[in-house]
Amino acid sequence: MKCQTCRTAEATVHVTDLIGDFCTQAHLCPECAAKERLDLAPLGKVKFNCPKCGGACEAGPPEGSEPVDVTCPACGFDFKVKLGIR
Ligand SMILES: [Zn+2]
Ligand SMILES: [Zn+2]
Repeated sequence: MKCQTCRTAEATVHVTDLIGDFCTQAHLCPECAAKERLDLAPLGKVKFNCPKCGGACEAGPPEGSEPVDVTCPACGFDFKVKLGIR
């Protein structure tokens, strides 16, 4: 599989990101992945692990103190998490 961004290098990095309500999947070469991660992870983004499968989830930036709804990109488990409080 070729990298989605540069379409030349072999995609060896498979990124699943939760951005707000959107779950995105990207297949990238390591070089583009490094750049892409910067775009996909703006300041204020909170990373945490799924309480069910332990998979990596992220959401944010935090808005107020209300818990936000999150769906685990790995197992699809829906849960609420309070961002910015750890
Ligand atoms: Zn690339
Ligand atoms: Zn999960």
